[in-house]
Amino acid sequence: MARLSDPITILKGIGPSKAKLFAKLNIFTLQDLICHFPRGYEDRTKLLTIDKLEVDTPACFKAMVMNTPRTSHIRKGLDLTKVQVADHTGRLTVTFFNNKYAAEHLQYGREYIFYGAVGGDFIGYNMTNPVFEALDSQPVTTRRILPVYPLTAGLTNAAMLKTVRQALAICEPPREILPASVRAQYGILGSDRAYYAIHEPQSMAEAELAKRRLVFEEFFVFSAGLAAIRASRAEKKIPPFENLDIGGFLKALPFALTGAQKAAIKEILADFGRGAPMNRLVQGDVGSGKTMVAAAAIYCAAKNGVQSALMVPTEILAEQHFASLQKLFAPMGIRVALLTGSMTPKQKREVREQIAGGEADLAVGTHALLSDATAFANLGLVVADEQHRFGVAQRSKLSAKGDAPHLLVMSATPIPRTLALLMYGDLEVSIIDELPPGRERVDTFLVNESYRARINAFIRRQVQEGHQCFVVCPAVEENEELGMKSAAAWADTLRQTVFPDLRISLIHGQMKASQKEEVMASFAAGDADVLVATTVIEVGVDVPNATLMVIEDADRFGLSQLHQLRGRVGRGGSKSYCVLFSHNRNPDTIARLKALCKTTDGFRIAEEDLKMRGPGDFFGQRQSGLPAFRVASLSMDLQTLKDAQAASAVWMDTPGAAQTAEGLALQERIDELFRRTEGTLN
Ligand code: ADP
Ligand code: MG
Repeated sequence: MARLSDPITILKGIGPSKAKLFAKLNIFTLQDLICHFPRGYEDRTKLLTIDKLEVDTPACFKAMVMNTPRTSHIRKGLDLTKVQVADHTGRLTVTFFNNKYAAEHLQYGREYIFYGAVGGDFIGYNMTNPVFEALDSQPVTTRRILPVYPLTAGLTNAAMLKTVRQALAICEPPREILPASVRAQYGILGSDRAYYAIHEPQSMAEAELAKRRLVFEEFFVFSAGLAAIRASRAEKKIPPFENLDIGGFLKALPFALTGAQKAAIKEILADFGRGAPMNRLVQGDVGSGKTMVAAAAIYCAAKNGVQSALMVPTEILAEQHFASLQKLFAPMGIRVALLTGSMTPKQKREVREQIAGGEADLAVGTHALLSDATAFANLGLVVADEQHRFGVAQRSKLSAKGDAPHLLVMSATPIPRTLALLMYGDLEVSIIDELPPGRERVDTFLVNESYRARINAFIRRQVQEGHQCFVVCPAVEENEELGMKSAAAWADTLRQTVFPDLRISLIHGQMKASQKEEVMASFAAGDADVLVATTVIEVGVDVPNATLMVIEDADRFGLSQLHQLRGRVGRGGSKSYCVLFSHNRNPDTIARLKALCKTTDGFRIAEEDLKMRGPGDFFGQRQSGLPAFRVASLSMDLQTLKDAQAASAVWMDTPGAAQTAEGLALQERIDELFRRTEGTLN
C-alpha cells in the first residue's frame, strides 16, 4: 500500500515531465491527486440506438464496423479516416481527423461502443471524432459516468482519469474524520466510499452523495476549527475594564453619534466589562461611521491603561486613519503611532520602540503590525478595519501579541449569510444599519460610449461647482489583449485632450507608498479636480468634497467592489453621483449593473455577487482570507453548512471525542486548513 503523502511520481507513467504538468494543478502527492475532484460528470451509462441519436447531443451507442477504415492524406498534417458503422436501426459515416489509433484498431465486422455527437446535413447523418472502445474492454471512456476534471494544457481528461484511478487502487483513502454517529444522523457516506465514488461513481445519485459527503466534511473541519478557537478564547479570563465612561470622547466629537453607532458602542462597552476577551464584528455599510465606533473603543481602552492596535489592509488607509485619529485623540492625551511596510527601517525601528515601550497608546498600521519585530508593552484591544482582507489565522496572530486582548473587527462589505458564518463564525455581531444624518443616496447611472460627451460635461460642471471627481479604471497600464481602460493612459488622455484646463492626478497600486500618500493627501486637500485611480481607492479613503465617481469598464468589477467604490462619494453634505461606463452587451451583465443602479442595499448586492462570481472572486482580486473550499459552493450549500456546524458543535462537546481516531484525524485536518489559509495570505 502506498501512502497519501507519497509523490505522484511513484505512479506508472508519471515521470518528471508529466509531474510538472500535475504541479501546475498543485498536485504533488497522491493525496493532492485524490483530492483533485471532478468539476462535473458526463453520464455515458445509457446506450442508445443509432435512430435515437440527437443532433449535437453526445451519447453512447453500440455499432458494427461495416467496412475497412479508409485513410486519405488530404494535405501535410491532415489525414482523414472514414468508416461506416451501423446497428439494426440505421447507419452512420464516422470521420476521424489525424487518428492513427482509429485507423489501425477499428476492424471490419466487429462491434464497438462509440461516444460522440451526430451532426446532420442534407446528405445524412455523420459523426466526427467519437471515442470508442471494444465491447470486451474495461469501460474507461464509454458505458460509465465520466468525471470531467479541471485540466491544464498537455494533460487530457483521460490521462487524469487513469492517474487518479491508479492512485485510488494503491493507497488508502484519507482517514475518516466524521464519527459514525454523525454519518448515521446526516446520511453521510464514509470516507472510504466517498473518495472513491467522487471519481468513479456508479450512478449520478452516488456522485451526488459523494459530493455531499465532501462538502459536509469541508464545512465540518472549518466549523470545528472555529469552535476550537472560540473555546480557547472563552477559557481565558482577563480583568474587566473598570472605567467605562466615554463622556469625554463624546463631547470632543464634532457631531452627535447615530443611534446605531451608540448601540454598537454600548455592546462593546458591555463586552469590556465582562472579564473575558471580546470577539466582536461591527458590520455596517460604507459611510455608516464605523471608525468612530472603533475610536470610542480605543478611547475606552486607553482610559483603562492598555494599548490598542488598528490594523488596516492598505497603506493609504493606514495613513488616513492615522491622520484623523491623531487629530481627534491628541487633545485627549492619547498618543497615536503609525507603522507601515514602506517606512524606512530606521523609522520602523523608532515606532516599534515606542510601541514596545508603551509610549504609544494606539498603533495604526498594515500587516507590518503582524511581523514578529512588533511587540506591544500592553496590548489590550485589537481592531481590524475592513477586515475581509484578513483571515481567521491573521486575527489570531495579532491577538497573540497581547495577553488575550479584546478583538473588534470592522467590515464594510455586507456579507452574505453563508460567508459570514464561515468568516466570522467565531465572532459576535453588531450591525450599524443607519447612515449619519444628511446623507443622500448616491444616484447611479449605467451608460455607454454614446454618453461620453455628456458625462465629460457633467464632470466639468461638478468641478466648476467646487467639487471633485474620481475616475476609476480597471487596469494600471494599457492591456491590449483584455481591452481594459488603463488608469495611466486615461489620465494622459484626460490631461491632454479632454480637460487640459483641469487639474488631473493619478494614483495606482504600482506607485510607491510615499507617492500614493502624496497624491491622496493633495487630492484630499483639494489640490486636484479629478483623481484617476485604480481600485486602490476602493477601501476607506475619505474625501468628503468628492461628489462624482465615474467607473470605466464597470463590468470588469464585482458588484460589491462597485458598491464600495460608490461609497467613496456622498460622504459630505452634497448630492453625489456614480456613473458606470460599460460597452458590454451581455444581457446578464447589463442586468447586474442595472441592479446596482437601483439598489443601495449592500446585503442584496453581496448575495447577487456571490451567486454570480463565487466566493473566490467575492472580494475582488485579493484573497478573502477564506480557506479554499474544494467542493463546497458557498451560495448553494447553506443547509449542508448548517448541518455540519450543528454536528461539529455536538461532536466538539462530546467528552473524549478528541482522543478518538476520528478526533485525532480531525485535529490534523484543522491544523492543515489554517496553515493553508494563512499561507495564501502572505
Ligand atoms: P465607514 O463606516 O465607511 O468606515 P467612516 O467611519 O469612514 O465610515 O465615516 C464616514 C464619514 O462620516 C466620516 O467622514 C465620518 O467623520 C463621518 N461620520 C461618522 N459618524 C458620523 C455621525 N454620527 N454624524 C455625522 N458624520 C459622521
Ligand atoms: Mg471605514
